[in-house]
Amino acid sequence: MPDAEGYFGDFGGSEIPPALKQAMDDITRAYQEICQREDFRQELQRLLTHFVGRPSPVYHCERLSQQLGGAQIYLKREDLNHTGAHKINHCLGEALLARFMGKKKVIAETGAGQHGVALATACALVGIPCEIHMGQVDIEKEHPNVMRMKILGCTLVPVTRGTATLKDAVDSAFEEYLKNPTDYIYAIGSVVGPHPFPMMVRDFQKVIGQEAREQMQDMTGELPDVILACVGGGSNAMGLFDAFLNDESVRIMGVEPGGKGLDTPDHAATMTLGTPGVIHGFRCHVLQDASGEPLPVHSIASGLDYPGVGPQHSYLKEMGRVEYTSITDQECLDAFMTLSRTEGIIPALESAHAVAQAIKLAPTLSQDKVILVNLSGRGDKDLDFVCRKLGLN
Ligand SMILES: *Cc1c(COP(=O)(O)O)cnc(C)c1O
Repeated sequence: MPDAEGYFGDFGGSEIPPALKQAMDDITRAYQEICQREDFRQELQRLLTHFVGRPSPVYHCERLSQQLGGAQIYLKREDLNHTGAHKINHCLGEALLARFMGKKKVIAETGAGQHGVALATACALVGIPCEIHMGQVDIEKEHPNVMRMKILGCTLVPVTRGTATLKDAVDSAFEEYLKNPTDYIYAIGSVVGPHPFPMMVRDFQKVIGQEAREQMQDMTGELPDVILACVGGGSNAMGLFDAFLNDESVRIMGVEPGGKGLDTPDHAATMTLGTPGVIHGFRCHVLQDASGEPLPVHSIASGLDYPGVGPQHSYLKEMGRVEYTSITDQECLDAFMTLSRTEGIIPALESAHAVAQAIKLAPTLSQDKVILVNLSGRGDKDLDFVCRKLGLN
């Protein structure tokens, strides 16, 4: 999976103009080539070990599990990676691919700045110019990440059109890319977009599941009973799920942002309430209006705030292999505080969605059952927001 056209069943593909099709075909070919090359594989492996700090540990939350009185909760600690989240795994891959293809510039958009920082980091390391487009509103909200990107040497392009947020940044970055798709590469930040990105980003993230599967067997002698990950575009989830898809005994759950509730318009529960459609050049479940325009979405975690989803998730849902459920903003905040105060681990608000689902599920299972949660990132970026929200300052 996917097939040669990039389809996972009915989902994926590349519904894009012919000029871009050529550029995507070039990327597919270059990607297939580097995958075969021993020097590329060794360099990526070296960087994952010595730069990112892999393998990330798996940690048994003994106190939390005991308090909940049911299944044992384990965390895959992607928050301990250099730059604090899983995104560095695929950004390194994309930067190395860009260098291999002789690209002169890597372009991307960023919302809260997480993808921008991970990509700017990878580009600084690899030595390739990087240009990040970011809405003016987000620039003002996300000051620490803006400073990081500047220090890392990327060109930050403020976008003031429209609502000056993520969607406008995507449009702006895309226009820049279209000026010269031969010399530039657009580095997508999740398992979304036209083929080959959903496949390529998944492959770069697979290391999470490969490590976790072995680590769980070493620690418990068995595979986990349930694995959980939050789903925005779906890259950290695909990275974990991939290694377990053929293990029938493992229940797999994706956790979506339920925002202020699924009975309100303020959520981003794409898999739960979306319908098949096209967004950003590929087919997937989309939260859309009657004319096929993406709806405005909301989540307390800006990294989950996307009206589409990776096509392989849409396929896995239709297949019935993965269950998708949602967690509200309030449940997410509660889990954020619970994990911080019970285990001394401050999770990203995105990751706290998966933690919240584990907290809900654990008491319904017996104590010999095991839940593995992908802790996709650390919460440093969310401290100001949470303190303001909870009146802690
Ligand atoms: C960006 C981000 C996500 C959401 O992206 P996916 O592609 O769905 O994984 C989740 N967690 C963290 C910490 C992030 O930074």
